[in-house]
Amino acid sequence: MPPGDWYVEEETFGYIQGVLLRERLQRHRSPFQNMEVIDSQLFGRCLVLDGALQTSEWDEFMYHEMLVHVPLVTHPDARRVLVIGGGDGGTLRRVLDHPQTEPIQVEIDASVIENSQKFLPSISNGAFQNPRAEVLIADGLQYVREHPGEFDVVLVDSTDPVGPAIPLFEEPFYRDVYKTLAEDGLLAAQSSSPLYMVSDLQAQVRNLRAVFPIVRTYLGLVPAYPGGLWSYTIASKRYDPVRVGKADIAARLSREAITPRYYSPDIHHAAFVLPPFIAEILS
Ligand code: SAM
Repeated sequence: MPPGDWYVEEETFGYIQGVLLRERLQRHRSPFQNMEVIDSQLFGRCLVLDGALQTSEWDEFMYHEMLVHVPLVTHPDARRVLVIGGGDGGTLRRVLDHPQTEPIQVEIDASVIENSQKFLPSISNGAFQNPRAEVLIADGLQYVREHPGEFDVVLVDSTDPVGPAIPLFEEPFYRDVYKTLAEDGLLAAQSSSPLYMVSDLQAQVRNLRAVFPIVRTYLGLVPAYPGGLWSYTIASKRYDPVRVGKADIAARLSREAITPRYYSPDIHHAAFVLPPFIAEILS
């Protein structure tokens, strides 16, 4: 390895990625996970949980815009939006870009929110102070179980299926989400690497298909994640994301004065076009 202090991430699937560091800013052990904030030459400041890079200042918009705008544009009038996880605030911020929304965020670990606001303020960009948002420190699983019939959209911005996030990928949780959604509600979740975490993606999609009539996986670039290609999955009771017209998407973005840097009407549709080998994985 070239000289210098490197952040090195060893993946369980036999892959290592590393970035050259400027500084290690923070190390913290919460009751739920190990947290680090690092400052890297290529990606700027990054949040790391349990040895997995979660988000970086440089590419966070690619991930958060795709996790949020695709489902919120698919639903014609999402007001009550639940965000599960997402302690860095990038998801909440993009939900708040849609002026009709009244988001509730349920994050299990208060220290992720505190440290993200302190060391990575550009990611939430004031979202936690927005009076339209309510932020609760609680387990998303339990919250969903206790609030049936309350939401138009549920966004699961969780860590990968390890530690407290494991049940967020399983069928009983998706059954509870189904109950917490209105009769035309939908869920969107990050769904792992379609290159290296194939069995996780397959299990998640299988679990969602057991519960929801419409399940669609879509892809986006997130260079800081292993392999750079990431997947998201929408599970919906009524609205199909591939049936939203490009002109309608453009009109929504213009009416709501949203100017994304990654998401666009063309990207919305392109993201659902899967290379045959990924379509096969999911068939
Ligand atoms: N963008 C990231 C990714 O895909 O790697 C996810 C980032 S976000 C920081 C993930 C958050 O989910 C963490 O802050 C973690 O504390 C939270 N989380 C994990 N399990 C949870 C649960 N059961 N309920 C609520 N939040 C949870």
